[in-house]
Amino acid sequence: MRKIMIILITLILSISIVFSIINDYKIKNNVNTIILKENNMTIGINYPTTNIKKLDFEIKKQVNTIYDDFIKEYGLDNKHSELNIDYNFNITNERYINIVLEKYISNSKNLTSKLYTYVFDVKQNRFLTLKDLINQEELKYISSYVQKELLSKYKDSIGINELNNILSPEYNNFKLFTFNDQKFVLYFNSPNFKDIVDVEIPIENINLKIPIEMGTSIQNTFKVKKIKNKVIDPNKKMIALTFDDGPSKYTDKIIDLLNKYDASGTFFVLGNKVEMYKETLIKMVEQGSEIGNHSYNHKWLIKLNKDDFLNQVNQTQSILKNTIGYTPTLLRPTYGSVNDEIKKNTTLDIILWNIDTLDWKLKNYKDIVNRVVGKVEDGDIVLMHDIHERTLKALEIILPKLKEEGYQFVTVSELKKAQELRKYE
Ligand code: ZN
Repeated sequence: MRKIMIILITLILSISIVFSIINDYKIKNNVNTIILKENNMTIGINYPTTNIKKLDFEIKKQVNTIYDDFIKEYGLDNKHSELNIDYNFNITNERYINIVLEKYISNSKNLTSKLYTYVFDVKQNRFLTLKDLINQEELKYISSYVQKELLSKYKDSIGINELNNILSPEYNNFKLFTFNDQKFVLYFNSPNFKDIVDVEIPIENINLKIPIEMGTSIQNTFKVKKIKNKVIDPNKKMIALTFDDGPSKYTDKIIDLLNKYDASGTFFVLGNKVEMYKETLIKMVEQGSEIGNHSYNHKWLIKLNKDDFLNQVNQTQSILKNTIGYTPTLLRPTYGSVNDEIKKNTTLDIILWNIDTLDWKLKNYKDIVNRVVGKVEDGDIVLMHDIHERTLKALEIILPKLKEEGYQFVTVSELKKAQELRKYE
């Protein structure tokens, strides 16, 4: 009996030791550097190793192949040649390792570079392909997004037809990609582009098949997490409700109301209210709504000089990022006033509206309802202000009424995305 007890205790002890080792498991990231200068060749190689065998094996294999090919091709050349390999490494959500390996070769004739990407799921101990992350519908969006980006950049060197061809929505066309908690990045080695090209898409614009906690790489801040469960049908009617000048004491109730009708909205907030309404803003994002920038303290933006304008916008961007780990991509200029200066000085998407509820002026909530119900059409952006009680009361009628008419209530970015998808079909 005593013997059994001892064996049992030893067993329990060793199991708990094993468990504590598993808990302490941290992904290691070491850089290996090889610098060689021989005869007519200079070689500088940096590549990562981790404590994950499968991943290390593939990277090492690729590095060896590049090295061997280089020696084979230029080893006997009397002209000077250079090989350089470098990489970029990031771990997202302590689970997904993203590596970009870049080969750069320079010789007497030309310069060439090529990228290789690796996305490895530590938990499943396997590499992820684009198919593991993105469904067919999402792929169409990515394809049209990339086409648009590249067309504006390379419109002088590539034709639309050629682009359509290289970037049609097939998984094979988008083999090179990485992601982190802020963006999804696609890379292209295609000889049609002069250099290696990358296109970044904000991670919140993409429905990944895997759960991602956004904004976790930002240190010392709250990490806001969007709980994505809304299904949007791009072929059904939809509108974007937008709320300016908040948050306020009514905003929480508006979010609850949106929730009740599976709706989301877009809140163009003022930077100076962010700290005070931190909890409300977190709730907003978690609920599926979007946050946009409406300046720091509502100065009339078209009247400001460039520096003051940039201060208004950037202060709001950084306070949102620092407080809740969220970075807006939309700007609604104060008073809906835009000029060329504003367009030139911001990279944010400028969003106005088609339907003005006049909720800032109309005192009776029924009048606000009548500005929307019966007037609104598919694709409209509706302007409201979440700083009035009457706006909340109007919404209590507007939401069920329009839902009954078959409308989906989406964010501005979701609306834009759906419009892209429709264009495609
Ligand atoms: Zn305003």
